[in-house]
Amino acid sequence: MKIKHIAIVGCTGSIGTQALDVIAANPEHFKVEVLVANSNAALLIQQAMATQPNAVVIADESKYQEVKEALQPHDIKVYAGARSVEQIVEMESIDIVLAAIVGYAGLASTLNAIRHKKTIALANKETLVVAGDLVTRLAMENGVNIYPVDSEHSAIFQCLTGEWENSIEKIYLTASGGPFRGKTRSDLASVTREQALKHPNWSMGAKITIDSATLMNKGLEVIEAKWLFNLQPEQIDVIVHPQSILHSIVQFNDGSMKAQMGLPDMKLPIHYAFTYPYRITTPFPRFDFFNYPQLTFEKPDLETFTNLALAYEALKKGGNAPCIINAANEVAVDAFLKDKIRFLQIGEVVEQALAKAHFIAIPDYEQYIASDADTRQLAQAIIQQHYSSHL
Ligand code: NAD
Ligand code: MG
Repeated sequence: MKIKHIAIVGCTGSIGTQALDVIAANPEHFKVEVLVANSNAALLIQQAMATQPNAVVIADESKYQEVKEALQPHDIKVYAGARSVEQIVEMESIDIVLAAIVGYAGLASTLNAIRHKKTIALANKETLVVAGDLVTRLAMENGVNIYPVDSEHSAIFQCLTGEWENSIEKIYLTASGGPFRGKTRSDLASVTREQALKHPNWSMGAKITIDSATLMNKGLEVIEAKWLFNLQPEQIDVIVHPQSILHSIVQFNDGSMKAQMGLPDMKLPIHYAFTYPYRITTPFPRFDFFNYPQLTFEKPDLETFTNLALAYEALKKGGNAPCIINAANEVAVDAFLKDKIRFLQIGEVVEQALAKAHFIAIPDYEQYIASDADTRQLAQAIIQQHYSSHL
C-alpha cells in the first residue's frame, strides 16, 4: 500500500485524536499532511509538533498568533478562519480527508474536498443528513469515494465488500440504546446533563453522546445509510444491541445475512476507511468471546425516544426535512448542554421545528444553507418562547 497523506479536519475531537493514534501506530503507511481544529490551540500545537504536518488551520482567528508563534521554529504553515478550513483541503499533497468536524459546520469543507477529488473518510454524518443528495451527486460527478467512519456504516460497507453486484433486501443498524435504555418518559423528565453524557460503551464528543441518549444519533445514521448505500427508508431497520459488538448487518435477497463484529473501538472503522481495500495489522485489543457470553437484541422504543421516529418521518418526507431536523437538533442539544432546556424538550423542539419550518421538495445548495439558518432561528425562538422560564 502506498503511503497515504491524510488531512484530519477536526483533529482535536474524539474521532480526530483516535485517528492520530491510528496514524501513530502505522507510520510506514500514513502521514499527517494537514490538521484542522476549531479553537483548542494548545492541543493543536501539541499534535502539530508531534506529527510535523505540512499545514495547520485554527478556525478561531483569535488563536492564530498563539499557534503561529508556537510553530514558528517548525516548517509548518499556519492559517486561521472558516475560509481557510474550507480551502485547506484543496492542497495537492492530500490523499484522504478525514471529515471529523461535528455538525453542519463540516459540510463546506467536505464539499470542497470532493470538488478537488480527495478521497473522503466520513465521520461527520451531519454532512449527509443535511444535503445527502448534493454530496453524493458531487462525489459521483468527481469520481470520489466516500468511505464511512461511523461504525455501523463501516460495518455495512465491510459486509458489502465483494457483494457489489448483489441486491440488498435490507440492513439492520445496531444501536446501543444509550444510557437511558429501558427508561420511560416520566423517568426521563428530570435526567441531568451529566447522566446523559455517560454513554455505556463509547467515549465520544458531547454532541453525539447526547444524540445517542435521545436516539437522534441512530435517526441521523438511518438517513446517512440511505445516502451511502442508496436504500429506501423501508430497507433500513434499527435494532437495539446493548453490547455494541455486532456493528450492523446486511440481509441479501436470498435471505442470507452478514454482520461485522468487533470491540466497540472507533480506531477500527477509522483504520478501515484509511486502508480500504486492504487490511493491515493493528496493535489494538482483540475481542474475547468469553467476556461477552451473551449478545442480545431489542426493539427500539419509538414512543420514548421520539427523535428516531422524527428522523424516519424526515427521511420519508425528503427535500430539506432532514436538514431541518438536523439544525433544530443542533440548537436543542446545545441548549440542553447549557442547561437551558430539559432532556425531553430536545425532541419537542425538533418536532415543532419540523412542523413549522418551510418545506422545500428539491433544494439547491443555497436553499440548504438558508434552511439551516432559518431553522436555527426558529428553534431558538421555540426555546425562548416555551422553555426559557420552565427550568
Ligand atoms: P468532537 O466534538 O469530539 O470533535 C469535533 C472536532 O471538530 C474538534 O476537533 C473541533 O475542534 C472541530 N470543529 C468543530 N467545529 C468546527 C469548526 N466550525 N471549524 C473547524 N473545526 C471544528 O466530536 P466527535 O465526537 O469527534 O465527532 C465528530 C463527528 O464524527 C461527528 O459528526 C460525529 O457524529 C461523528 N462520529 C463520532 C463518533 C465518535 O466516536 N466520537 C462515532 C461516529 C461518528
Ligand atoms: Mg455510529
